[in-house]
Amino acid sequence: MTVQRIDPGGTIGILGGGQLGRLLALAAGKMGYRTHVFCPDTDCPASQVATHHTCAAYDDMSALGKFADTVDVATFEFENVPSSTAVALSETVPVRPSWKALEIAQDRAKEKAFFAEIGAATAPWRPVNSLEALNAAIKDVDTPAILKTTRMGYDGKGQVRIDDPSDAESAWNSITANQSLDSTDTPFAVLEGFVKFTSEISVITARGADGSVVSFEPVQNVHRDHILHTTTAPAKISATTAKTAVGVAERAAKALDLIGIVAVEMFVTSYGGVLVNEMAPRPHNSGHWSLDACQTDQFTQMIRAICGLPLAEPLRHSNAVMTNLLGDEICDIAAYYADPACHVYVYGKGEPRPKRKMGHVTKLSAKRHA
Ligand code: AMP
Repeated sequence: MTVQRIDPGGTIGILGGGQLGRLLALAAGKMGYRTHVFCPDTDCPASQVATHHTCAAYDDMSALGKFADTVDVATFEFENVPSSTAVALSETVPVRPSWKALEIAQDRAKEKAFFAEIGAATAPWRPVNSLEALNAAIKDVDTPAILKTTRMGYDGKGQVRIDDPSDAESAWNSITANQSLDSTDTPFAVLEGFVKFTSEISVITARGADGSVVSFEPVQNVHRDHILHTTTAPAKISATTAKTAVGVAERAAKALDLIGIVAVEMFVTSYGGVLVNEMAPRPHNSGHWSLDACQTDQFTQMIRAICGLPLAEPLRHSNAVMTNLLGDEICDIAAYYADPACHVYVYGKGEPRPKRKMGHVTKLSAKRHA
């Protein structure tokens, strides 16, 4: 397929209005592109810095049609944009990285099946659609395990840990409360074996319009209450584990035939192997460090890819620790601004509610190898 290049002056449509859209719009602006954000909120982090904003529901097809008329390419900044919206848009404008990748990433069961197809291991898992199925799954997967809704889960939402088979009923009731279990093409939940990982890592891979593939080095992630707390670059893992992890992400990018970037989160096991947790075909929180520690960051790489420009070699020039600033932690920014090694980002969100991602800070230090 020949992919038409979008020249500076062109308009990039972004579905979603959060901080990832904001940082994407800022990167696009630096490269001479206009941006048009489509999201249902009035004053969102991305609309504050974009050239245009359509404030409409994702299923407002009339607003979506008008939005499509104004953009040269469209992308999305979070997974839970309905895939029907991305599919409808793809009838008139290219949607990159790929609406098919979005559909897979929205569904934990499809995602696990996809990684199995490309020969990448995940934790043992079973689809679960009823309490009986959960009890059977617990026998197969064993405890401890985590019950996760198949769709719409992020930052620990829609997840319950099961330490003992007797917890099954309360776990099932807790994830199904106020939910409709109408039959769809996918199970309501999956039961995943609990992985005793030595660390969590992620790899961000870009695939260009010409099929070229490049990856940022694996980084190490620490979560608190299921929310990313810090990302450290580079990850403290062996060269073999790093190669395996990059191989998984690059196989995924190629198999998905995407044009853009994909982040793959993995667990590192005690024997140095990797198990895929999940993927996101969009910029990722664990790639924010690249804004300050690399010659090209994940957002610029994404814009390069979706506009048909050559990809950059994502070389790291510094070590970095990125820390998310949640809720009231944003009030500490003066101390970070006082430290010349720190690069501070504030997302322009209103109220600093507990656990809300308000900004991040990346602290650089001299480069070393893993
Ligand atoms: P997720 O929403 O699936 O990305 O999960 C958020 C975080 O919960 C992960 O980054 C892990 O820290 C933890 N977690 C999720 N699934 C598992 C698992 N199967 N085993 C161990 N920890 C997990």
